[in-house]
Amino acid sequence: MKRLRFFVFLLLLAALPGCGGGSPQSADVLAMDTVMKLTVYSQTEGQGEAALQKAVDEIKALEGLLSVTDESSEIYRANHSPGRAVPLSEPTRALLSDALALCAATDGALDVTVYPIVRAWGFTTGACRIPVEEEIQSLLAQVDYSRVFLDGDALTLPVGTELDLGAVAKGFAGDRLMALFRKEGVESAIVELGGNVHALGCKPDGSPWQVALQAPEGGFAGMLEIVDKAVVTSGGYQRFFEKDGARYIHIIDPKTGYPAETGLASATIVAGSGLLGDGLSTALFVMGRERAEAYWRTHGGFEFVLLTETGRAVISEGLEGCFHLYGEWENRPVEVVRR
Ligand code: AMP
Ligand code: MG
Repeated sequence: MKRLRFFVFLLLLAALPGCGGGSPQSADVLAMDTVMKLTVYSQTEGQGEAALQKAVDEIKALEGLLSVTDESSEIYRANHSPGRAVPLSEPTRALLSDALALCAATDGALDVTVYPIVRAWGFTTGACRIPVEEEIQSLLAQVDYSRVFLDGDALTLPVGTELDLGAVAKGFAGDRLMALFRKEGVESAIVELGGNVHALGCKPDGSPWQVALQAPEGGFAGMLEIVDKAVVTSGGYQRFFEKDGARYIHIIDPKTGYPAETGLASATIVAGSGLLGDGLSTALFVMGRERAEAYWRTHGGFEFVLLTETGRAVISEGLEGCFHLYGEWENRPVEVVRR
């Protein structure tokens, strides 16, 4: 299985001296199965170190709660206590509650109970395989987010149902880090959490952050300018395996149990909330272009960039003026979707 860790690259332009910004401090963290880079610009002595240390602690704590493989995590405990109520801490409850709402809003294109299918395809272990039809059908019978019973902070899963919050956890972590940085008095920060980029404020010199979108075939396809936003990409090229000339990607259509094949190479969401961006990048990838556009028109609250497998770029109108194509993609047309 090929695994491409960095599919959104961040171009951090150094703070210009004399432009009024603080000094940058960074930390690298290996967590949630990805390499994370945190950068804060501090205004006062020691502010950056303190904020970064708290941020690293927060990420590790979230990983400890949400991991599907760590036997001491809350998700592991719930997955291994079928039919019994398991108490959740505040962050896990908040994340699960919002994630379930997003599963419902996307009509199950995002489904946090798809884990047994993802495992059957071998994406959790690296031992990738093509499950037989009967196996997929029998596992599909267990996939249904609406059977997750969350009552206050008590989570109960029916027998056979397993949770994996991997499609939304990094987005949620980004939201928590932004809140933490604000509390620490930081005004300018940017974090890369695998395919998620989340920015606090603008660059110290007052200009927008520039976030590059990876091209499915490698290199860069485009550049986004953002202030106080999360940019989250889900792409088939991020994790896949090939067998007999066919490619099988890690994003599963929960309705079929097979990798989502909707003609999209990637779906990028720009939103104020990392959790929303993360959940919707996965969901819109599963939906494909037409349903994704319809979802955006109905729900709003975010903008998107879709890169199709035929090499087209489609953006929602809110990104006009802050997105341009780049590199090999530079001279291709950009289709703008309007309300
Ligand atoms: P992301 O990288 O955020 O798009 O999340 C993809 C990961 O979430 C995959 O590697 C799977 O572990 C899991 N997943 C795959 N398909 C879905 C889906 N339709 N809904 C929820 N989680 C999914
Ligand atoms: Mg996601």
